[in-house]
Amino acid sequence: MSYHPQSDILQAYVEGSLDEVTAFTVAIHLESCPQCKRKVALAEQKCGEALSHAPIEQTPDNFDDMFAQIVTLEQNSEPFRAPQQAKPITVNNKTFMLPRALGRFSDQIGDWKSYGGKVFSAPIEIADSCRVNLMYIAEDVQIPQHTHKGIESTLVLHGGFSDEDGHYEVGDYLVKDASIKHSPFTKPGEDCLCLAVLTEPMIFTQGVARLFNMFGKGMYP
Ligand SMILES: [Zn+2]
Repeated sequence: MSYHPQSDILQAYVEGSLDEVTAFTVAIHLESCPQCKRKVALAEQKCGEALSHAPIEQTPDNFDDMFAQIVTLEQNSEPFRAPQQAKPITVNNKTFMLPRALGRFSDQIGDWKSYGGKVFSAPIEIADSCRVNLMYIAEDVQIPQHTHKGIESTLVLHGGFSDEDGHYEVGDYLVKDASIKHSPFTKPGEDCLCLAVLTEPMIFTQGVARLFNMFGKGMYP
């Protein structure tokens, strides 16, 4: 594993200022990355120390006011979910165990779509702000070069893939913005399951393959 979330992302993760999808992608990376886990633990410790030295907020003058404030807080309708066991998913006749942070969302994983039996994608309903997909790329497949209007984050869950910039393996976390054109590929004997988070549709820039043509100018994986 050689591609990690940048330090400012880890710091924002600790401070709780990341958007929910990035936070959840980082959480999955942390499951398999002791190095980032250590950084997060250290930052959490610093945060805790900073908090313990922070001035104490003034308490309300009377408890009736405080009680009134608490009961008018909006109730959280989301049921509390305890961390669950790793869950299996099956695609292209192969079964993979999902990381625990992702297993929580296994009920929200939609049907797999196949693109020519080479690339498969399944949406995960997590947030309205971006598209989250599980993507499976079979061995020896080249995805046409494309760029993005927004930001694409990819987390490798199984196997690996390469692009013009390097080779990515389990746990690697990549962020590509609109300035980057790339054409991911898998080698013979290498397949890849990854989590792809897109804030905008991807746009193909060259030699658009027949399989991808039908989606017009932009498509989500
Ligand atoms: Zn890491």
